Amino acid sequence: MGVESQRVEEYRLTKEPYYLPLGNEVELFEAAYNAHLPVMLKGPTGCGKTRFVEHMSWRLKRTLVTVACHEDLTASDLVGKYTLRNDETVWQDGPLTTAVKAGGIAYLDEVVEARKDTTVVIHPLTDDRRILPLEKKGEIVQAPEDFMLVISYNPGYQSVLKDLKHSTKQRFVAIEFDYPQPDLEETILQQEAGIDADTAGKLVKIAEKVRNLRTHGLEEGVSTRLLVYAGQLIHGGVDPVTACEATICKPITDDLEMQRSIVEIIATQF
Ligand code: ADP
Repeated sequence: MGVESQRVEEYRLTKEPYYLPLGNEVELFEAAYNAHLPVMLKGPTGCGKTRFVEHMSWRLKRTLVTVACHEDLTASDLVGKYTLRNDETVWQDGPLTTAVKAGGIAYLDEVVEARKDTTVVIHPLTDDRRILPLEKKGEIVQAPEDFMLVISYNPGYQSVLKDLKHSTKQRFVAIEFDYPQPDLEETILQQEAGIDADTAGKLVKIAEKVRNLRTHGLEEGVSTRLLVYAGQLIHGGVDPVTACEATICKPITDDLEMQRSIVEIIATQF
């Protein structure tokens, strides 16, 4: 699998990514980094985990290598493999190896999606050995002090078949994320979508009610990301009701009854 198809991003940020802290996560992450401990970010999709890691990599001045994990991702996709180039076999480091060698932050997004053999390469990096075995190359890379492993994990998605093993979970410092408090989410929407406080407040009120529908069978509440989309459409001149239906209602459920309930909630605000 080529580097592109793994959707790997590697960069050192030059501009501060906007991130509004929701609690003590910045301090906790910094303390884990200083103690050379791996971190697990837990929480629903679209609630700021990726933005947080980007922000922290900027704060700590570390290169960030992000891997969006998927069901075909294997250990050698992460670590590296021999490939054929002009009739020659050459070793190509995978994204995890690149991050380790660079003393950067490796962020494995939705790690539970990846093939089971990936845990074999992650484990020795998470204990005090901090090593990455390149099995096929017969080499062991010692992680420098600056290297940090971060994974994300959405407990809501997991089934009995697809869950992180306890032996994996118990190797990470966990930082829990959830939808931001209403006043903080309002600030985020104003900043990210360029909308006024009144519109942001209405979107947050809609979100609160839609998230409460989870007790009535809605699988997952509306994410901050989708609220930002709604704000951006409104900012771009789309009528608020249309914008909300396209971002807050349709993407999160296919159930017509549930969609009707959400449309009613939207109508109470706009
Ligand atoms: P996740 O990685 O949890 O799926 P993201 O980090 O991609 O979610 O967050 C989605 C979007 O929500 C971000 O692009 C950003 O616009 C916004 N966002 C969520 N939380 C925050 C926050 N605390 N500060 C700034 N932006 C945030």
